[in-house]
Formats: sequence, structure tokens, C-alpha cells
Amino acid sequence: MASGEIIYPGKIGVPYEWSVGEYGSRFFYELKEKRKIWATRCSRCKKVFIPPRKSCPDCFVHIGEWLEVGPGGNLITFTIVRYSAQTHIISAPFAMGIIQLDGSDTGLVHLIGGVDIEEIRSGMRVRPVFKEERKGNLLDIIYFTPLERTS
Ligand SMILES: [Zn+2]
Repeated sequence: MASGEIIYPGKIGVPYEWSVGEYGSRFFYELKEKRKIWATRCSRCKKVFIPPRKSCPDCFVHIGEWLEVGPGGNLITFTIVRYSAQTHIISAPFAMGIIQLDGSDTGLVHLIGGVDIEEIRSGMRVRPVFKEERKGNLLDIIYFTPLERTS
């Protein structure tokens, strides 16, 4: 770097669009139109993937079987975000968790809400709360909320 070099910070906004693909489209369609959460199951190892996968990362085979999972699930783990950032979809503090939906073998990352964040515990039973007006993305689920109070 040359001595005295002047550097100005800048930002550019670039509009773009991308396809979520065949499996992503079916997954988001079911969320939007039916409030259902669908997964795929490997024909060889029987592992159920959510979000749905088109191929098994363990068996390297194509996956063609679909099944509905949840809506209930177990909160495997979570974290509480206590700072705000421009990239966050809601203001801090809020909780993010990994939910293993009933019938699935993998975890889905989502917000945990409708509960005092200090009451959230790993192992809690949770269910999705859907938006009334859905757009066909993962935020059609507002958050996962405990099925019952813990205290
Ligand atoms: Zn497999």
C-alpha cells in the first residue's frame, strides 16, 4: 500500500433473483398453500431430511420419496441473540433454535418465539406459527413456539 493512499468505503445494491429448484419449490409451495412441512427420505438409509434434499449426503443416491413431517418437534438447541444488526430480520433480543420436527432426522434452524426468551429450554416441544399471508419462503413460519408453558 502506498503511503498516504486514500480509500473510501462504499456500498452497491445489486438486484438479483434465483431459483429454489424443483425440491425447494415443492417445499415452499406446501408451506405457503397448505401450512404443511414436507421432507424427503432416502430409500437406502431411510434418513428423513428437512429441508428436503434431492440426494443423500451419506449414500450418494437420488431421493424421490416425499413425506410430511411435524408440525410438532423438539427444540434440540438454541441461542439468544442479544445484539442488533442490519442483517437480522427482527430486533434483538431474540432466540434462534434448531428444531427436529417429528418424523425427521435433521434439524431446521428457525426463530423461537411467543415465549419469554428466558423460559426457553433445550428439549422443549415446539410447533410452528404460520403467517396468515404467506409468500412461499421459510418466513411463512413466523417462529416456533412452545407447545406448553414450562413454568
Ligand atoms: Zn441415505
